[in-house]
Amino acid sequence: MATLRFPEFRLGKVLATSFTGTLSERYGEKLERIPVPSRLVDWLAVNGLAVDSCTPSQLDRARELRESIHTAATAVAHQDPLPSSAVQVINDCSTQGLASAILTPEGGRKWRLNSSSVEDALSVIAADAISVLAGEREGKISLCASPTCRAAFLDTSRGGTRKWCDMNTCGNREKKARFLANKRSNSSLVD
Ligand SMILES: [Zn+2]
Repeated sequence: MATLRFPEFRLGKVLATSFTGTLSERYGEKLERIPVPSRLVDWLAVNGLAVDSCTPSQLDRARELRESIHTAATAVAHQDPLPSSAVQVINDCSTQGLASAILTPEGGRKWRLNSSSVEDALSVIAADAISVLAGEREGKISLCASPTCRAAFLDTSRGGTRKWCDMNTCGNREKKARFLANKRSNSSLVD
């Protein structure tokens, strides 16, 4: 059987916004980075939340949580009231799973999922989102300046001036677009 190639993950330092980043270009040509249940399993494993298995309905639930976090973060960035449906989904996911914080001998923190289920993993992501949305973390929630992306990220830069969700993708593309636009307007002078 041929190996299917799936979009790579883009991982950040903040669990909740890394998770919302599994869907790219929400307002353009969408790129779904967890298109099948096994990819959610992979993503969770990479993020220290290994689960035994994932059903299509668990993947649906995960995406519902993801979009609820995105919607809530967008509201926070705009200083709008939180949409109650998004709050409901985040809170339900937070309470429907069980996980414990574990202090490693090296002095790090990892999560131990109660039953290694997707629900347990989603509860950790939901709790992380809650701490970000509640403003408990250093930085402020901002939205990527790319109109097709508008991904939420936690801006920890001094002065809070970060524009892009990721300098290597959105930031770079903008730079390139500006360069090409300049080139075009210059060459039109010659035409
Ligand atoms: Zn972006």
